Amino acid sequence: MPRSSLVDFKAVKAAITMEQVLLHYGILNQFKRSGQSLSGPCPIHKGSNPTQFRVSVSKNLWNCFSECKSGGNSLDFIARMENVSIHAAALKAIDWFDLDLEVMRANSKEADFKPGESSPSDAGPKQRPVPKSATPAQEKDAANKPLGFRLEKLDHTHPYLTERGLTPETIVDFGLGYCAKGMMAERIAIPIHNLDGKVVAYAGRILGEPARDIAKYKLPQGFRKSLELFNIDRAIKEPPGKPLVIVEGFFDCMKLHQNGCRKVVALMGSTMSAMQEELIRSHINERSQVLIVLDEDEAGRTGRDDIAVRLARFLFVKIHVFPKEGMQPDQLTPEEVNDLVGGEI
Ligand SMILES: [Zn+2]
Repeated sequence: MPRSSLVDFKAVKAAITMEQVLLHYGILNQFKRSGQSLSGPCPIHKGSNPTQFRVSVSKNLWNCFSECKSGGNSLDFIARMENVSIHAAALKAIDWFDLDLEVMRANSKEADFKPGESSPSDAGPKQRPVPKSATPAQEKDAANKPLGFRLEKLDHTHPYLTERGLTPETIVDFGLGYCAKGMMAERIAIPIHNLDGKVVAYAGRILGEPARDIAKYKLPQGFRKSLELFNIDRAIKEPPGKPLVIVEGFFDCMKLHQNGCRKVVALMGSTMSAMQEELIRSHINERSQVLIVLDEDEAGRTGRDDIAVRLARFLFVKIHVFPKEGMQPDQLTPEEVNDLVGGEI
């Protein structure tokens, strides 16, 4: 995708709604809907009054009646949240929502073109580009497509896997292995399945602990992990009476599974996206219990509180608190796992 510095603000603005932007920030659930408007605390000045910040859904405009005393469109909002220029905000939006600039340009007759450039007045019918991060309903339309291939030559016997405590059975069961070359070269490739059990991506885990500014995991470009829950395809096949365990990472999930807790999903992070909430909501029996076992650290604690509040509206929720800072679910012994899920596994 071309990342020209010439940005068609109008097209970007038209392509993203305030709801999508709030969803992107994970705060849409803090807003109350009434007809065509949303109201909630102002995320810009971080206010607490639940009526100070209003969004007109139909006009796609926002207003803070408190400290900010200002308002604007979705791009203005991103600019204020990120403390950047409108131009930088547009570039961020293009990236976050995977907007296709070429399509947008062809569709916008009022594009901010450089003088001398021909105007695209002969463009075809107007077609709004589909942003890749959207409300749950829209996310369904733009789901991650199943991969048309499998990484066949993975080494299932790589020492890193046994160092992490995985048994050969678990390794084969989850289909992971060391990838010598290709897109996940020199990483452990972990297949991610969608709800139907189709592989939609491989996550590539770096061997060992990465240097400070290097990410542990590599995900394919364009893949949106916020639309998936690792191991959901198998968790939903477990009996409805069993509690669903929610963890952060792949290895937490695989270790718990190995230790007998098979109804387990990983968020692939410490936050729950709207789509992940929707997946749990629509596929987990409302009488089921949910057990949140995130890492015992700052991110894990923030994440679990938010997830608990959101899920408690329709499920029985329990939070597991580890006795020591830094503890993670992949460190639990089979006995501890059994105690954790109340001997119901
Ligand atoms: Zn404000």
